[in-house]
Amino acid sequence: MAASSSAAPVLLRILSASVSVVNRAGRIIKDVMRKGDLGIIDKGIDDLQTEADRSVQHCIVTSLSRQFPKISIIGEEELDSEGKVLDEWIVTSLDSDVLAKKCPENLASIPEEKVVVWVDPLDGTSEYTQGLLDHVTVLVGIAVNGKAIGGVIHQPYYNYQVEKDVYKQGRTLWGMNGIGVFGIEKKAPCEGKRIITTTRSHSNKNVNLTIDAMKPDEVLRVGGAGHKVLLLIEGRAHAYVFASKGCKKWDTCAPEALLHILGGKLTDMHGNSLEYHKDIQYLNSGGVLATYDAAVHEWYRERVPEEVKKTLPP
Ligand code: AMP
Ligand code: MG
Ligand code: MG
Repeated sequence: MAASSSAAPVLLRILSASVSVVNRAGRIIKDVMRKGDLGIIDKGIDDLQTEADRSVQHCIVTSLSRQFPKISIIGEEELDSEGKVLDEWIVTSLDSDVLAKKCPENLASIPEEKVVVWVDPLDGTSEYTQGLLDHVTVLVGIAVNGKAIGGVIHQPYYNYQVEKDVYKQGRTLWGMNGIGVFGIEKKAPCEGKRIITTTRSHSNKNVNLTIDAMKPDEVLRVGGAGHKVLLLIEGRAHAYVFASKGCKKWDTCAPEALLHILGGKLTDMHGNSLEYHKDIQYLNSGGVLATYDAAVHEWYRERVPEEVKKTLPP
């Protein structure tokens, strides 16, 4: 039987609230795109922010913090706390499919204070501004004791090839340790061929040197950390290789949690696991190396050139 919302463990309620709010987030992303004026701001070199990034962060952070005032929420965008938050962005409903699950015992008694939520309101902003809309995801990662233990990936433009009504496009994947991952079917990638996915808009010499050392048959250069991990889960790539700084904790928390539950592995380029304590540095300074299956991770790690590793302090 489904737990009543107030009786359910707080982690399950946080996950459930996150699943509800990302659908609203996806609508904001579509509304901004349809309006046509993206309100682009340059945050730095190769680092853009649009009105959608700002509004979605307000939507998710305000919605979660009103319901769970004691959790730590770290969002990508630095926003004016006095900024305008529309009432229609606030979502406080809980997803009943999530609430119907049984929270594993080791997580059931975790108090709100111990939960850190990492929010990337729009992953793949560069691609969003260029109309590569299926590269975009909304990421809400949940961490406890520094470990990514669950999260949500919403892909607002999923299935655009088939579904022509933009507001009917999209999918939401969610999962938690001990419960599983829902909203996607895991597929194994083809055998006898090595497919690597990597950045499309943040490439450099070391990124390419490292990929070359792995002798891929095919390289998929696409936007977004969330999107690339989806390619691993769906068997469209064997490894996600990014031997550079630039990717942050909000990019990897939710994708890592879901990938690990499904048997994959995401680390830095040295093979070190990533930490998600609230005081940790945001930057994944050691790069990102992820594989569809944990068993093949070592093969890729061993091939990272020494001279590249020296440029990526863990
Ligand atoms: P990409 O694979 O290039 O789409 O990057 C995945 C995530 O890491 C996105 O959120 C990017 O914005 C971020 N990222 C990667 N490299 C950089 C960089 N050099 N500067 C800023 N953000 C970056
Ligand atoms: Mg991002
Ligand atoms: Mg972002």
